[in-house]
Amino acid sequence: MIIAQTIEDFRAQRHADPSLTWGLVPTMGALHAGHLSLVERARAENDRVAVSIFVNPTQFNNPDDLAKYPRDLDADAALLESAGVDLIWAPPPEIVYPSGYQTTVTVAEVTKPLEGAHRPGHFQGVATVVAKLFNVCQPDRAYFGQKDAQQVVVIEQMVRDLAFPLEIVVCPIVREPDGLALSSRNTLLNPAERKAATVLNRALSATVDAYQGGQRDADTLRKTMTDLIAAEPLARIDYVSAADPVTLEELEGSVQRALFSMAVFIGDVRLIDNMMVSDEPAD
Ligand code: AMP
Repeated sequence: MIIAQTIEDFRAQRHADPSLTWGLVPTMGALHAGHLSLVERARAENDRVAVSIFVNPTQFNNPDDLAKYPRDLDADAALLESAGVDLIWAPPPEIVYPSGYQTTVTVAEVTKPLEGAHRPGHFQGVATVVAKLFNVCQPDRAYFGQKDAQQVVVIEQMVRDLAFPLEIVVCPIVREPDGLALSSRNTLLNPAERKAATVLNRALSATVDAYQGGQRDADTLRKTMTDLIAAEPLARIDYVSAADPVTLEELEGSVQRALFSMAVFIGDVRLIDNMMVSDEPAD
């Protein structure tokens, strides 16, 4: 496994043999089994796998969140080596954003609600860095987790709009045995908060159950989530949403398909999670 820093080093590895297909897994490091599920899928579908590790400053709207974000390149590299990764790109910020850098990518409508409404500038940072990663790596496929549901919608929109020549592969959410979605931020929870954090999965599961039991009213479904989270003393809602999975617009009245999603502070740690439902049979 090779760890590249500069764009030139990365590209030299990537293009050494043009006959090979490459899968790219973009990450911010502090890797866990959720990231590794993306790597595993990429391994199965490509000749070579590259993982980028970059805590992208431009997607953090809160400087404290950026400062506290967990980082451990040595542990990450060891995990990726045993997962059979070929190439890591772990650039310092000045390689991604050299002095004089001035270009950004803005995806319009689908970045407005949900995370976009609560984290100003977040998706401009994400779209810009992912566009740059795609240009640096030029992968055949890029792997993203459904954990960041709006991110998937934003990246798919960008790839369509700007005709990036690659396939986006979306992988399911990996959860702890008690249902908590794996997240690098989970390491910031103290034991009481870690216990309380299961409320996100409980609220989403109860809402999916209500939907499957025939409840179709958008407000009632949102209230199911809100009430369950409100019952957890360590939890504070940032938002809960029942939105159209394609447009991400908030649903009103009767629901046929929905992305149930939420951002909830557990203590100081902001966690997100989501589940999707549809009347249409899955393909
Ligand atoms: P991050 O390092 O948080 O930027 O995540 C890198 C990628 O891993 C993103 O595409 C995430 O959606 C994905 N990811 C993070 N957590 C999970 C999880 N629990 N299950 C599946 N994918 C995940």
